[in-house]
Amino acid sequence: MRGSFAVGEFSLQLNEDQLGIKQWVHDFAEKVIRPAASEWDEREETPWPIIQEAAKIGLYSFDFIANGYADPTGLTLALVNEEMAWGDAGITLAIFGSTLAVVGIMANGTPEQIGEWIPQCFGSADSPQLAAFAVSEPDAGSDVSSLRTRAVYDEVSDTWTLDGTKTWITNGGIAGVHVVVASVDPSLGARGQASFVIGPGTKGLSMGQKFKKLGIRASHTAEVVLDNCRIPGSALLGGKEALDERLARAKEGKRSQSQAAMATFEASRPIVGSQALGIARAAYEFALDYAKQRSQFGRLIIENQGIAFKLADMATKIDAARLLVHRAAWMAANKIPFDAAQGSMSKLFAGETAVKVTEEAIQILGGYGYVREYPVQRWYRDAKIYTIFEGTSEIQRLIIARAISKVHIR
Ligand SMILES: Cc1cc2nc3c(=O)[nH]c(=O)nc-3n(C[C@H](O)[C@H](O)[C@H](O)COP(=O)(O)OP(=O)(O)OC[C@H]3O[C@@H](n4cnc5c(N)ncnc54)[C@H](O)[C@@H]3O)c2cc1C
Repeated sequence: MRGSFAVGEFSLQLNEDQLGIKQWVHDFAEKVIRPAASEWDEREETPWPIIQEAAKIGLYSFDFIANGYADPTGLTLALVNEEMAWGDAGITLAIFGSTLAVVGIMANGTPEQIGEWIPQCFGSADSPQLAAFAVSEPDAGSDVSSLRTRAVYDEVSDTWTLDGTKTWITNGGIAGVHVVVASVDPSLGARGQASFVIGPGTKGLSMGQKFKKLGIRASHTAEVVLDNCRIPGSALLGGKEALDERLARAKEGKRSQSQAAMATFEASRPIVGSQALGIARAAYEFALDYAKQRSQFGRLIIENQGIAFKLADMATKIDAARLLVHRAAWMAANKIPFDAAQGSMSKLFAGETAVKVTEEAIQILGGYGYVREYPVQRWYRDAKIYTIFEGTSEIQRLIIARAISKVHIR
């Protein structure tokens, strides 16, 4: 035998705390979120009463998310997001869309900025607030190096002035805190960009058009217009000194910390994947129940291999996606580098599984799957965004292909 290894140390079992949180969130998803899902999908508005309920019980709060991040296994937030999205993905994004901005502040902010701004992203239990993270622009989606929004510094007044238009922004214009990525030196592409926090009520930031969407319709998506938006020097995340050093290194062609920021976003992908997983599981469970009740040709439709095998594939894909999501969440929490882009793998596979599983669920329900009286069509519409936002499936494949080959694949 080689060395000494402790047999039985490895476990895929959730611990007591995780099981308790999972059950608590599941109850909220079952009793509060799911019954409201159809109404908010139709209304296409931010479900404030549900955000307020989530805040009241402490589910939407700085403490809850901070405790989730503190779980050394990394699984808690993945479990929470899967259960919430099992209830409804649109409402989940309305509640947890703010965490994108939180990650942006955590990744780039100084300890003082983290202490000042992150609690403001959530507000209080009585008066919850939302936050937005604005990178995408009309001409810069997958290619974030080509942002046109400019941030110009005035040394005399120690202020930054931001101008530009952001698009597809979750909570854009209705958030209290906006984290905006802008170019401070366009000649340096992505390495000439910086993140800024824009606080509530800042002049020069306004909402442009609100988008009408295929799915996740309870989540607000809009343009954010920055017109001569002046903010104090302290709004630059990470501070001016760190930015100047980073720009100087970039000009000399040296590697910079921007790689670290990318790694942080890679680390948030398993959470997005876990939401896709929740939608897939909802559709699978519904289709399984339905197939065991619906009869045609004098027998239950599940007795046909044509239907039962679909369900077997759905269950297998969901479990495979969950294993990828949990592995990536665990690696991120334990700071194990994603040397094969395991974060991207988890988001890619979970997103595509959600699309495939929800489509098969419609097929299993036949006409009942296609009508709005049943929830399956909504899950299908909601699933599709998971192959688009937070990096499209093509971009995830690009990241994985580059990581495994070390070749600069285009
Ligand atoms: C509902 C919703 C919410 C969103 N929320 C936010 C948010 O909160 N904050 C934010 O900043 N952004 C947000 N986004 C933007 C989202 O991240 C972008 O839509 C996404 O990155 C894709 O950019 P794009 O839409 O411009 O597509 P494009 O980049 O124009 O891509 C079009 C197609 O080309 C493919 N493609 C592009 N480049 C390559 C390549 N090199 N190789 C192969 N294929 C390629 C893409 O995969 C895609 O299929 C949101 C979008 C939506 C729809």
